[in-house]
Amino acid sequence: MYNENWLSAIKVVIFDMDGTLYQEDTFLERYIRYLLEGTEHEEATDEAMRLGRAIIAGEHAIGFGHFYHMRDDVGLVLEGERFVRGFTWEGAAIEEGTIREYGAFSEQAVHLIPIGDPWGVVTALGRKYRLPESKLRSAFDRVRQEMLLPPHRFERHDKLFEALEALGAVDKKILLTNTHFESGIAFMGYMGIRHLFDDVVCGANKPAGLHAYFNALLAQGYQAHEILSIGDNPWNDLHPAKKLGGRTCMISPYPSGDPEIWDLRLRRLDELEQLMRAIQESITRRNRADGQDRAEAYQQEVQG
Ligand SMILES: [Mg+2]
Repeated sequence: MYNENWLSAIKVVIFDMDGTLYQEDTFLERYIRYLLEGTEHEEATDEAMRLGRAIIAGEHAIGFGHFYHMRDDVGLVLEGERFVRGFTWEGAAIEEGTIREYGAFSEQAVHLIPIGDPWGVVTALGRKYRLPESKLRSAFDRVRQEMLLPPHRFERHDKLFEALEALGAVDKKILLTNTHFESGIAFMGYMGIRHLFDDVVCGANKPAGLHAYFNALLAQGYQAHEILSIGDNPWNDLHPAKKLGGRTCMISPYPSGDPEIWDLRLRRLDELEQLMRAIQESITRRNRADGQDRAEAYQQEVQG
């Protein structure tokens, strides 16, 4: 699986945190409940939970990899710069002519929420019910705090962190998370992983933030194919890297409706752990081979 030659060229690895360095989605129902609690939509809580779970499971017409259009209250599928399909919450397909009228992505960008991970599903639901940003933020903070404490504390995959620590052959390991500073630091503290990274950015504002970070690495002299971005949310974590010529690894246990092809497509954390070890091995192997070549060339020069 990891025989790819390109792994030995990797010098910088950019990681997402939530959904990438831990996997957990039992928060979904609680997050939706807290979001609707005390609002005029509280009675719709069970329905919203079913909807959220169906989206994650790939059992709804609107799914991961799609965009929620806030103004029109529909889901849209993007291919390249154009929308190619669309669906209502009831699952009906939108007419082709209507889809064409949406034009290019940039024309609709202000109306769009990417449904890239379980967090994005709840953000879209918050917009669907026209709830204020402050309600989403307080529900987010509440559920994030619960995720670090019993009985809802998530499981750490320590073997992945050991493999990450053992990945010493790359120049830089970077963590970019859109989660705000307070919760980002608390999650890193719980997982005990802060020291594993050369740079950590919370509130990273991906996808634009990843685009900028990637460009900064190029300006430092790294080549695009030497940079690998790993994440569960294609829109935030992978598309910006792919557009600039970088390597991409999607890790997510869920089906995705994003039509893009990534260099690697993983599902579970133990696969990511194996990938860390495979990168370390292939760089080390290449360095050894390069060393041998240099030694042989020197020998020939001396003898010649
Ligand atoms: Mg993520």
